[in-house]
Amino acid sequence: APLRVPQAKHGIDRRLVSRHAIKVCDVLHENGFEAYIVGGAVRDLIVGAQPKDFDVATNATPEQIQPLFRRARIIGRRFRLVHVVFGQEIIETSTFRASGSDEQTTDEHGRILRDNVFGTLEEDAARRDFTLNALYYDPATEIVIDYHDGVADLKKKTVSIIGDASKRYREDPVRMLRGMRFAAKLDFTIAPATLAPIREMAHLIENVPASRLFDEMLKMLTCGHALDCLRRLRAEGLHKGLLPLLDVVLEQPGGERFVKLALERTDVRVRSGKSVSPSFLFAALLWQQVNHRWQQYRADGEPAMPALGMAVDSVLDDQTEKLAIQRRFVSDMREIWFMQPRFERRQSKGAWRMLEQPRFRAACDFLQLRAAAGEVDSALAQWWMDLADASDAARAEMLEDLA
Ligand code: ATP
Ligand code: MG
Repeated sequence: APLRVPQAKHGIDRRLVSRHAIKVCDVLHENGFEAYIVGGAVRDLIVGAQPKDFDVATNATPEQIQPLFRRARIIGRRFRLVHVVFGQEIIETSTFRASGSDEQTTDEHGRILRDNVFGTLEEDAARRDFTLNALYYDPATEIVIDYHDGVADLKKKTVSIIGDASKRYREDPVRMLRGMRFAAKLDFTIAPATLAPIREMAHLIENVPASRLFDEMLKMLTCGHALDCLRRLRAEGLHKGLLPLLDVVLEQPGGERFVKLALERTDVRVRSGKSVSPSFLFAALLWQQVNHRWQQYRADGEPAMPALGMAVDSVLDDQTEKLAIQRRFVSDMREIWFMQPRFERRQSKGAWRMLEQPRFRAACDFLQLRAAAGEVDSALAQWWMDLADASDAARAEMLEDLA
């Protein structure tokens, strides 16, 4: 039987729980179904962090859930669930699922390809990845249902996989990355049995579709603890040959300093609740490589701008082949990069046109990063920053002073 952990022990402050998530549970209860808040939100509430979003798990099927709410739509093909919409907030509501049944299909490495078999609460808990992610909070009773000692692991600050670690990583290699991310984000340790098989199973990441890897990379880079994530990946050999982008980033001479600076700044932004732009981040991660090839083309006699164009194309070709960087990010990255040479002189001519570029702000931030890394003169970078921050009148004055 699962543990039924009372409020006094898990300590969740009900006032921090989304009222919309509570509403979804209430409505399902009123209609005779079981319903709980589940997953990351429960984990975050117990450690006193602000949940990003709230998910609900229930024994009602998508067809039973949908008509109970004014704005609800069934989404997903393989993994069907219901989005219940309240203004800006979406409560993702899914039916308990089982795992390991014979309806489930795996590839030759044991990776789960289809995962859409409804099950019981107990089965739903067993198919989740880590014990701290398998907790079910009933807002009506304020009890947390805990099949796998997740509350104890949270108190012990331990990331521990449910079941046999090797088997769970074979089913879904991304779990290795997720474990690292949760450990970094919560500042937890990874339980020995959960950590042990990772080194020799790291290569399984190669079988994961590029788009999923990109999503997970982005989560790691924007979790507010990106540097710690990368350090942990590296310590386990999980970055090598698996995430081509990370290889590039961590193994280029001198590149580490630039990347460290970029990630430190990102972490600070995330932790103070600011947004970070994925294009800025990827532009920063790949800059050393772009810069290196740019200098090579120039040394071969190409003029500056065409040389930069060639460098950008070749770096992007390498990366998008393996890691599916989304198109809209790529075009922003190009704009950020292509503006860099135009910053290298204080110029009155063309400055107004630069100021009007949609990515001027990001490109100017990028210039600050280069200055911090010692790549460009910091007084020059500051001048552009002042220009960006100035009023139109002050801008005119600054530009006139140059002439
Ligand atoms: P966050 O959203 O902060 O990254 P989360 O725990 O909410 O963390 P999601 O990816 O939103 O992560 O997944 C929600 C829940 O679904 C998880 O808490 C976990 O229980 C389950 N889950 C997600 N991915 C997997 C996976 N690869 N294998 C098993 N269970 C998973
Ligand atoms: Mg989540």
